[in-house]
Amino acid sequence: MRSDKKIIIAIDGFSSTGKSTVAKQLASKLGYIYVDTGAMYRMVALFALENGCIDTSNFDSKKLISLLDNVELSFVFNAELGFAEAYLNNKNVEKRIRTLEVSKYVSTVASISEIRVKLVDIQQEMGKNKGLVMDGRDIGTVVFPDAELKLFMNASASTRAQRRFDELIAKGEEVTYDEVFENVTSRDAQDTSRKDSPLVKAEHAIEINNSNLTRKQQFDKIYKLAVLAVEA
Ligand code: C5P
Repeated sequence: MRSDKKIIIAIDGFSSTGKSTVAKQLASKLGYIYVDTGAMYRMVALFALENGCIDTSNFDSKKLISLLDNVELSFVFNAELGFAEAYLNNKNVEKRIRTLEVSKYVSTVASISEIRVKLVDIQQEMGKNKGLVMDGRDIGTVVFPDAELKLFMNASASTRAQRRFDELIAKGEEVTYDEVFENVTSRDAQDTSRKDSPLVKAEHAIEINNSNLTRKQQFDKIYKLAVLAVEA
């Protein structure tokens, strides 16, 4: 389906619910831009790790805030892979931001308001011409509260941890299932309890629990919702 009317599709939800997979597929089918806002928070966390703002026992949020003007985030489309890869200060960091080490610190970094203000500004700018599928934790509540379609994805914690574990193992990371389960559930706890822009289901969001849906079933369901939203 192609239409002249372009909308914004906001997809929020818990960690590893498959938001980015479905968002990417949907954007490609609709001819829309796809933005993975988790990648943006991950890039800031990687920057913090590489610039002495984090060591095992301490997170120097003041130092990170003072360095924020030196953080330049972008996405560059890779035609071979069929999606846009994350660039931090013009360096491809797509693989490095997906490690468990970055996952361990990203929710702490994402709880800082100064960082959220900077990233939300960039995200709103990306959506000013609509035709956008964006996934994250606060897209339907803060970034685009007027999005024409809002989805809230969920699945059981064990399903989500198993998916993330399989992905990390496939990429050659040495991790245990228990470590990944701990990371997924502790990020959810941090993301839902933070003061600024906590993860909550947005008003009018449609909840999709995909624990028992195949990827195709999930995609078909979401695509139908998108078509209805474009035609509304
Ligand atoms: O989506 P992903 O799991 O890659 O996101 C990594 C982390 O970034 C989340 O656990 C959350 O702490 C943060 N995040 C956020 N707001 C968003 C997207 C991600 O706080 N819009």
